[in-house]
Amino acid sequence: MNIILLGPPGAGKGTQAKELEKKHGLLQLSTGDMLREAIISGSKLGEEVKTIMESGALVPDDIMIRMISNRIEQPDSKNGFILDGFPRTTAQARELDVMLERKGMKIDFVIELAVQYDVLTQRISGRYNCTNCGAGYHDEFQKPFKEGICDQCAGDQFSRRSDDKPETVKARLSAYEEQTAPLLPYYRKMNSLSSVNAMAEISEVTLEIESVICVP
Ligand code: AMP
Repeated sequence: MNIILLGPPGAGKGTQAKELEKKHGLLQLSTGDMLREAIISGSKLGEEVKTIMESGALVPDDIMIRMISNRIEQPDSKNGFILDGFPRTTAQARELDVMLERKGMKIDFVIELAVQYDVLTQRISGRYNCTNCGAGYHDEFQKPFKEGICDQCAGDQFSRRSDDKPETVKARLSAYEEQTAPLLPYYRKMNSLSSVNAMAEISEVTLEIESVICVP
């Protein structure tokens, strides 16, 4: 089973992708994570995309399409994947259709995580991750049980994304509205879009997604 999660930054795509990964043995393919890893590794790609990402703009389509095309050819993608953060433009969506057809693969579900824009800045600016295991937390909505200690691995180091600053978040939301939101009618027209209410509690959103993908 292959799934696309669509939605603006802060809608909870990463959180829900991790739930799907655990429950269904699917692989989370987060293009944002791949790009951040490229920056940390100091690769040529990382150098190329660093400034773009820090500005909140989108990385050029050709780079992203090449990245996903290579990634879904890896053996670990064969049991099914969740695209988290890709496609983000109509050109990426069209290329994805072409590349999947060429590889004899297909997308089974496109799921929109629908949220009201006014909550997004608050959601994004409060989030942070455990530096050791990557578990996600939020200053208000998802604190660790014991302050300063990761629930998953007991690590005590945490970090925040540099593009989660309010001024960058504004640019990221504009990029979503202008370049990614047009994908909703694109997939709706193909009758492959389902929408879930991502304003609900994390566990309720997970249940709604389950009801979409478990339809016989
Ligand atoms: P994310 O972690 O999904 O919020 O992505 C962080 C940043 O990575 C975005 O603001 C973009 O600069 C870049 N990025 C991630 N995925 C894509 C994509 N599919 N197309 C263009 N840029 C992307």
